[in-house]
Amino acid sequence: MLKVRASPPGHRNRHADLAGKLPEECVVCTSKYVSYVRDVPTLSAGVEIPLFYCMECESFTNPSGFLPTAETDATELAFHIKVHERNVLRSRALLREMKKQYPDLQRIVEIGCGTGSFVREAQDMGFDAVGYDINEQAVAYGVEQYGANISASWWNSDLQTEPFDMLFCIMVLEHLEQPRDLFTEMVVAARRFGAGVFVAVPALNRNRWKYILDPDPTRPGTPFFNNRAHVTHFSNIGLHKLAEQFEAGIREVRSNVSENEIGWGGFVYEFQSPG
Ligand SMILES: [Zn+2]
Repeated sequence: MLKVRASPPGHRNRHADLAGKLPEECVVCTSKYVSYVRDVPTLSAGVEIPLFYCMECESFTNPSGFLPTAETDATELAFHIKVHERNVLRSRALLREMKKQYPDLQRIVEIGCGTGSFVREAQDMGFDAVGYDINEQAVAYGVEQYGANISASWWNSDLQTEPFDMLFCIMVLEHLEQPRDLFTEMVVAARRFGAGVFVAVPALNRNRWKYILDPDPTRPGTPFFNNRAHVTHFSNIGLHKLAEQFEAGIREVRSNVSENEIGWGGFVYEFQSPG
């Protein structure tokens, strides 16, 4: 007699496990239409965590519960040092492009500045630039080695009393399990001064879904690389929904380091001055 299985062995139990873990809403666009995709391996051997998908904005999330420690801060600092030259070139290319598109751009704030290579480059190009990062080791290194104008502190809109033209948040939001919290803070500050917010994240759009079939946390440049720390995988649709929800204009910015090398690209969320 033919036996029919509704789900593969173990599948039903897996769904029971997930009952309390399925996010109530999409962490990018707040849609209730969130579904479980599969488990994905993390860098810690043997540990797998669930990956969820927003059916509305096509963003993904694999919350890992990761919290930085002195040890992970040190690892991150080592990474920043390793990619410093690359980041200087990318910073320069992005700042040139921004200056082209926003000729009046002068006062820059960077949230999640790491060792401050972007801030230092902005200072060298004549901008008024300041950066914030919670990694004290990275900030101490950047101040000492590069003379970057950066501080080891949390940033929020209440602390942003100085006017600015553009907030930069480069490769930061993908690290946050609730990226809307910081995004909302940035919007509050930007609206206050009629400024803009530039966001760059490693996008996971439909053309990169093949990586879901083979989610390798050890392969740099792929969406699930270091997914213990990279927990929110934005789609461009999600980034646009954010703009709609916050009544922002949105403009795509691409910058090339050279003919063969693309640099940081992202979106500028534009807000009208309240006055
Ligand atoms: Zn969504």
